[in-house]
Amino acid sequence: MKLVFLGPPGAGKGTQAAMVCDALSIPHISTGAMLRDAIAAGTELGLKAKAIMDTGALVPDDVVIGIVREKLASPACANGYLLDGFPRTLVQAEALEGFATLDAVVNVDVPAGKIVARISGRRVCAACGHTFHVDTLEDEACTQCGGALHQRDDDKPETVENRLRVYEAQTKPLIEFYARKRILLTVDGDQPIEAVYGAIMEALEKVRA
Ligand code: AMP
Repeated sequence: MKLVFLGPPGAGKGTQAAMVCDALSIPHISTGAMLRDAIAAGTELGLKAKAIMDTGALVPDDVVIGIVREKLASPACANGYLLDGFPRTLVQAEALEGFATLDAVVNVDVPAGKIVARISGRRVCAACGHTFHVDTLEDEACTQCGGALHQRDDDKPETVENRLRVYEAQTKPLIEFYARKRILLTVDGDQPIEAVYGAIMEALEKVRA
């Protein structure tokens, strides 16, 4: 399946995307994770992206479109993929139409009032990228690989507000864009992780049938 996951920052897209990719055996393509990898590797792209990401703004469309187009052309993506965090603007969504035919777009819906608490409690493993929330943390280290947990620079309060503004202005219009194409599946993301996962898999089953 060729899928896109939409939703505000902190909606649980990344967590759900990883679970769905495991179940469907498709690669998880997270543009945010790819940009963070570039930052960690100290590449030119990483240096430019970090300055932008730290403000909560979006990396230029042509840069992300180029990264995704290249990735989707790789053999690993031949039998499907899940795009998490892309597209984030109408320009990106229109560009994607030129090189992908999507089966479904899953919109993980979480009320705006719940987002800040979800993001400020998020902790990420520095080694494997697995995401946790302080309210349900079982250990001080990552339960997947033992790595150290930290807060993403762009999850700090001063950046979160801007990320939410950027989401409202630039990414939210994609809900209507995909609804008009009749491939949008909206799932209530304001439930326990397993319940959200169940709702997503049920919605995807109907698309596959
Ligand atoms: P995420 O991990 O999806 O929350 O992304 C973290 C940050 O990476 C965003 O706030 C943007 O600065 C940047 N980013 C990720 N995906 C995109 C995209 N599709 N377009 C532009 N910037 C992006």
